[in-house]
Amino acid sequence: MSDIVDQFLKKGTNKGVFYGGMFRKSARQETIEVRNPATSDIITHVPDAGEDDIIAAVCSARAGFEVWSKIDPIDRARHLRKFADIIAENIPKLALLETAVTGRSIKEMRAQMGRIPEWIEYFGGIAMGLEGESNVVRGGYVTMTHYEPLGPVALLTPWNHPILILVKKMAAALAAGNTCVIKPSELAPVSPLVLAALATEADLPNGAVNVVTGGPGTGEALCAADDIHYIDLTGGTVTGRKVAAKAGDRLIRSTMELGGKTPIIICEDADLDGAIAGTLFAAFIASGQTCVSGARFIVHTSIYDHFTKALAKRADAIKVGDPMADSTQMGPVISNASKNRCIRMIAQAKADGAVQIAGLCPLDLETPFDKGYYLRPTVFKDVKSNHGLFLDEVFGPVISVTPYKKEEEALQLANIGDFGLGLSIWSRDIARAHRLSLGVRGGIIWLNDHHRNDPRSIWGGLRDSGFGKENGWDALKSYMTKKSVIVRTAPGYDDWFAGSSRYG
Ligand code: NAD
Repeated sequence: MSDIVDQFLKKGTNKGVFYGGMFRKSARQETIEVRNPATSDIITHVPDAGEDDIIAAVCSARAGFEVWSKIDPIDRARHLRKFADIIAENIPKLALLETAVTGRSIKEMRAQMGRIPEWIEYFGGIAMGLEGESNVVRGGYVTMTHYEPLGPVALLTPWNHPILILVKKMAAALAAGNTCVIKPSELAPVSPLVLAALATEADLPNGAVNVVTGGPGTGEALCAADDIHYIDLTGGTVTGRKVAAKAGDRLIRSTMELGGKTPIIICEDADLDGAIAGTLFAAFIASGQTCVSGARFIVHTSIYDHFTKALAKRADAIKVGDPMADSTQMGPVISNASKNRCIRMIAQAKADGAVQIAGLCPLDLETPFDKGYYLRPTVFKDVKSNHGLFLDEVFGPVISVTPYKKEEEALQLANIGDFGLGLSIWSRDIARAHRLSLGVRGGIIWLNDHHRNDPRSIWGGLRDSGFGKENGWDALKSYMTKKSVIVRTAPGYDDWFAGSSRYG
């Protein structure tokens, strides 16, 4: 196992930014505190990188591109398999690191880290099979297409799955032959630095993976850097509007994976025990901090009382506490600001007249967790479609339940608002489930399950949830441009202007 993870697990390590295959001292003195959300203790500081660091990182990505993009995809896949193997060896330590920085339970992080190598192996594999086409066309021509990488690309990532979301993007970008400059979230910047160091251990060329840490200002400066040719952001909708505008202004392509307000439709014929277990997972995994967290439950009136009671009972039984403990089922939210936002939304839901049915008892955690950013899983029933809790992304463990009578009403409720990301529909009637899936607005629809993610299953939203896709061939191709080469095979040559002359 790599000792780089141990170095970061030790409190107080500030190794700098990462480019050209190694850690470098930042050109700026300013740093950002990284806190453990379970205790609010400072874990470490990272540089608040500025323009000089960004220019150096992008130059290094350009130098890396000149090497990496020229490696045959079959050999690139070999390098990527080695990278995946090194990540696999470090899974237990990466899980500890992710839990320390995000507060997500160790059980969740072990399960998530166990799957990370799949993304790298998958994209390395499919990139070997990326073939252009050739056509014989009218007039004596053969046309051919080639895929080419774009150059250095910017990857801007959030804090909720620091490694998973980064690897989804980075694996596709690298497999396509690009190099990356990563700007991780200021709240969880540590594991992306570690991944960059592991890329060097895997003998990826220097400059293939570069990381500049910092806040929104660092992200803005990276998006403005001259030699960046694609921007892939996962973040909030407000950030997405700014970053997409910047990409548009520069005429470079972009992918925007943004916010959501995920509806869950529970039909009267659903397998109720399965639906309650599955939707509990949908709502409270990652303390409700995923873009597809089940947030607004739309439940048929005939099962409404049974469902709400059972959901509330199960939510209250979720074990909240030290995220490093094997028995803990839910950790804290990421920051005090997030906790306060959830508290404000809870107060607003009460003021709107919704009925709180879970999360009523105060938490009583021992030191040092009494200083952490904890909330109980919280459920409101009788939430109306004009309530803030029905409309706005909470990004925390606070959910709403609303009854419906007819299928059309379920669809109408699910489609309220401007998000269009994830949804799940629970019904034993497969025709009904499909019918509803056709009527709802969203990019990822689960039938009788929720939140399943796989490198082969495309992921992305529409409208305020963004555009572009992660996973699958769509993601790989988004990181490439397709060039058309037209070869004349007809004999001789055309002389369009034959017979004309300047003097008649
Ligand atoms: P955020 O928008 O605050 O930050 C995301 C990243 O963008 C961070 O690295 C941040 O520093 C950077 N950033 C912020 N402003 C910027 C600017 N003006 N220019 C360039 N970079 C900038 O989001 P967050 O709080 O880290 O993450 C939570 C949000 O992400 C939620 O809204 C959630 O729904 C969304 N999300 C979406 C998906 C998806 O797949 N669609 C997945 C996870 C999270």
